[in-house]
Amino acid sequence: MSLYDLHTHSTASDGLLTPSDLVERATRRCVTHLALTDHDDISGLAEAKAAGMENAVCVINGVELSSVWEHKTIHVVGLFLDVESVTLNNALTDLKNARHRRGALIAEKFEKLGIHGALEGAQRFMTNERLISRAHFARFLVDAGYVGSQQKAFDRYLGEGKPAYVPSPWFTSENAVVTIRAAGGVAVLAHPGRYKLTGAGMRRLISEFRDCGGEAIEVFSPAHTPEDAERFIEFARYFGLKVSLGSDFHGARESRFDLGELPPLPVGVPPVWSLRQDLFFD
Ligand code: AMP
Ligand code: MN
Ligand code: MN
Ligand code: MN
Repeated sequence: MSLYDLHTHSTASDGLLTPSDLVERATRRCVTHLALTDHDDISGLAEAKAAGMENAVCVINGVELSSVWEHKTIHVVGLFLDVESVTLNNALTDLKNARHRRGALIAEKFEKLGIHGALEGAQRFMTNERLISRAHFARFLVDAGYVGSQQKAFDRYLGEGKPAYVPSPWFTSENAVVTIRAAGGVAVLAHPGRYKLTGAGMRRLISEFRDCGGEAIEVFSPAHTPEDAERFIEFARYFGLKVSLGSDFHGARESRFDLGELPPLPVGVPPVWSLRQDLFFD
């Protein structure tokens, strides 16, 4: 079990636990350093920080930005952010508006498929009125009995290329990195194993990510096999990036990995927190 978990979600985006409950769960699971990285939103951080003080958990200000690189959705985690950054806050407002526009288009697609009231249905599952995610549509589809599981909702309707899929022409990945850096943060390439890239494509993504200011790459993630992890550790070494890890926890019912449920990072590869040593004591 790792004492560090640097990729998690709360009700400020599509997680099922409030920031306080998430931090309490982290304490129970012996996580000492927890980054809350909600999708395109930082409004849960104040509550998480306060709960961290009470529970002796070091809460790191984070976010997971949705972005596009070569027509693929790429997630960029930002850690150690200044939440007052105007650049960051303006970017988050743009992303949330884009999410609302996409939500309406997704609902139109469902309408044509004979599934009525999808927008209102998804809205019932939103826990932050400013942020709508495909996860909320998926929960509506499960609840209304259209599909048996969240995974099926993506496989059948919401996943890339499926009938209710609407592309998200948001930020470029470079823009995401630049925004995180403008807020004093460290940009981490999230779960690279999820992007279905060829070897050459992956090298291009990672080198461009580094060249525009990205500093770390997730190696331990539920999206990765042990072989993926080895491969990304090698990539990190080759490209001179730090390594990171995170459970991507959304809630006990929906996530295969619980908080801290990852092996500790191997010694000899510099972890992302070595960039902010002042925050860590070991
Ligand atoms: P969005 O960021 O609104 O496009 O929504 C994507 C979110 O849906 C992810 O962050 C996951 O929480 C959730 N999700 C659950 N299952 C899947 C899946 N099979 N493919 C993509 N996203 C999924
Ligand atoms: Mn999510
Ligand atoms: Mn992600
Ligand atoms: Mn995530």
